[in-house]
Amino acid sequence: MCGIVGYVGSKQAYPILINGLYRLEYRGYDSAGIAIIDGDLKMYKTKGKVADLENFVSGKDIKGTIGIAHTRWATHGEPNDVNAHPHYSESKQLALIHNGIIENYASLKEELIQRNYTFKSETDTEVLVYLIEDIMEKEGVPLEEAVRIALNQVIGAYAIVVISKNDPDMLIAARKGSPMVVGIGDDDFYIASDATPIAEYTKEVIYLDDEEIVCVRKGEKIILKTIKNKVKTPYIQKLEMNLTALEKGGFEHFMLKEIYEQPTSILDSFRGRLDAKKGLVKLGGISDYEQKMAKAKRIIIIACGTSWHAGLVGEYLFEDLARIPVEVEYASEFRYRNPVLNEDDIIIAISQSGETADTLAAIQLAKSKGATIIGICNVVGSSIPRTTHAGTYTHAGPEIGVASTKAFTAQVTVLTLMALRMAQMKGTIEKSKFHHLLYELESIPSKVEEALKVDEQIKELARIFTFARNFLYLGRGYNFPVALEGALKLKEISYIHAEGYPAAEMKHGPIALIDREMPVVVIATNKGTYDKVVSNIQEVKARNGRIIAIVTKGDTAVKELADYVIEVPETDELFVPLVATIPLQLLSYHIAVMRECNVDQPRNLAKSVTVE
Ligand code: GLU
Repeated sequence: MCGIVGYVGSKQAYPILINGLYRLEYRGYDSAGIAIIDGDLKMYKTKGKVADLENFVSGKDIKGTIGIAHTRWATHGEPNDVNAHPHYSESKQLALIHNGIIENYASLKEELIQRNYTFKSETDTEVLVYLIEDIMEKEGVPLEEAVRIALNQVIGAYAIVVISKNDPDMLIAARKGSPMVVGIGDDDFYIASDATPIAEYTKEVIYLDDEEIVCVRKGEKIILKTIKNKVKTPYIQKLEMNLTALEKGGFEHFMLKEIYEQPTSILDSFRGRLDAKKGLVKLGGISDYEQKMAKAKRIIIIACGTSWHAGLVGEYLFEDLARIPVEVEYASEFRYRNPVLNEDDIIIAISQSGETADTLAAIQLAKSKGATIIGICNVVGSSIPRTTHAGTYTHAGPEIGVASTKAFTAQVTVLTLMALRMAQMKGTIEKSKFHHLLYELESIPSKVEEALKVDEQIKELARIFTFARNFLYLGRGYNFPVALEGALKLKEISYIHAEGYPAAEMKHGPIALIDREMPVVVIATNKGTYDKVVSNIQEVKARNGRIIAIVTKGDTAVKELADYVIEVPETDELFVPLVATIPLQLLSYHIAVMRECNVDQPRNLAKSVTVE
């Protein structure tokens, strides 16, 4: 969480830093701050969003060609001006920004207090900058060395950037467990939590690895080493990022833009990997491991949040098509259990950002037990793809809205490809069915396009239910994860309590909640357990619940029962999540807009959960 930007070079730093913060704001937005050196080391911080920081500095002296900036997602200490980053060292010679948690900050702080240091903030971060300065003074070492020594004493996760008033051409950055990218310009350098603030200035980047420190000076070569003092050769990569993907492109919110991008993003996630005519499914990233996957006695999918819902769809797909048993685990639970794992196990780790802290830790655990790890991530060059044995990118393009939409459908698409490939290799699917499914998958982008046409109708629905206090989402089979995802979207951005449930499970509890006030969204598409779902709708109806049904085009039975009906195009049961999710995304979006919620930056949430 949190966004970090740094710049050193010949240009004015402020515009680069503030634009960078806007690009990174999806990562955290409870407070923001900036430090710039121009003779003096000046610092401006404020509670609130990047726009508040921009207002705050307006009219102030923000000249300087080196600086650092931060948007915070508080872990230690409430969001206020003092706790906002950057933090000064005690002498105010150094300034530091940090993403992550210094887990042993309390003991480090205690030691420093005993030596008469006085802390200004409640953050864990301030301890680190004090410690660095303390080491510089005590051991008489330069800043880069003091940072290295200090990081050896730190337990926890960090991405940090430090600047010093006494060395105004140098940035020092380091990471462990939190992402960090260095952009290399002509005679200048950019540092950021992800590549979005860098993309408009340079295409040459270095993704730092855990426990690496980088020291960059204007016009000089990069110095890269580990915190154990091993010098490394930087690996420079070409950044492929389309700048228009970082703009709203005429939409009111990133979320709406990303919902509307789904015909393209789904196509992008299977482009070049699927050829229905030739009966081909090819996932280059996993080709060395597909034999092992096909022979696996079980697959364990680990993920968090929306990615976990995609994982559930994956479970149904792998079991249905390839007859491989699948377990779907919350990464945060899995990592702290004592899971039984062995060398035959295949782990599929799903994360949009590729930085999810719990998923990363679960991967390390599974790796240590000898399991094979396959990643499904969206952000190229992020941490998870670099720690897994093999993997597949979803290629959905940058997702900026905090509530995930196109990343979900892209993850489901990639899981579908994997399951189809496994089925083909294992011979668990008839040739004709296989071909039929490939053609059907190829047609999904146009079906999603059609599903988006319900937007106006959904807006009407949103108007009716703007002030509902609770929502229930029901689905069975492939539509159960869809119900979970629909409920999560509503909670995330409109702050309405919502629960997703397997439709039949409703009788074991939630049915007690149903009355005239309770909208119940039922995903009742026409395959699988359709008749059973119709009975579940009857049960809700008998208790005066108000039914909003998502049905297949041309449906008649549910139409007679439901209060409101939204049609989606017909597709194979396996692919229904890809189309049925669309109206639910739109419903949560419009309700949130009507409730005047901040759709792209919902309260308390951050896009990329890099703390556990
Ligand atoms: N732990 C630090 C704080 O609470 C950094 C949080 C972040 O990553 O934004 O200030």
